[in-house]
Amino acid sequence: MTSPPQQVSELDRLLEANAAYAAARPDDGATASPRPRRRLAVVTCMDARIDVFAVLGLKLGEAHVLRNAGGRVTEDVLRSLALSTHVLGVRTVVVMQHTKCGLTGVTDQELRNRTGADLGFLPIDDHEAALREDVDHLLAQPYLSLINAVSGLVFDVESGRISPIVTRERPAAPDQAG
Ligand SMILES: [Zn+2]
Repeated sequence: MTSPPQQVSELDRLLEANAAYAAARPDDGATASPRPRRRLAVVTCMDARIDVFAVLGLKLGEAHVLRNAGGRVTEDVLRSLALSTHVLGVRTVVVMQHTKCGLTGVTDQELRNRTGADLGFLPIDDHEAALREDVDHLLAQPYLSLINAVSGLVFDVESGRISPIVTRERPAAPDQAG
């Protein structure tokens, strides 16, 4: 009598992978400080096809990565950036949206119908407009005055290339937080 194939749950797969990761983890100093070494935060979409670190040539410990549906500057993103800047030294923000995004070409009404909830989804009609809106919204927050450069980019999920859409810079504010 043969036993049935063992069911491996998603959690089991994750735990197994983690054991291997922890065993092989290099002691390279990347965990020494919570402050992102490049003083950078990246806001991007939760899309499963975006390997943020590889796309932007980042290493562990160099940047904060904030992900949500669409890579939009939501209230939650603003709250995180307030901590990034005032507590952890971030001065540059990149907002990276992408082609073939699930939030492109749908309306807030459609998303409300599908989910049965009015959650403020911030669908994307046009990346250029959405990025300009998000960059301006970010820079308009008085509590984010320590941020001195913000760029909006579109990542092409097919070619892997990034197109810069908008960049705004402003003089550095007095740097109390270091
Ligand atoms: Zn997306």
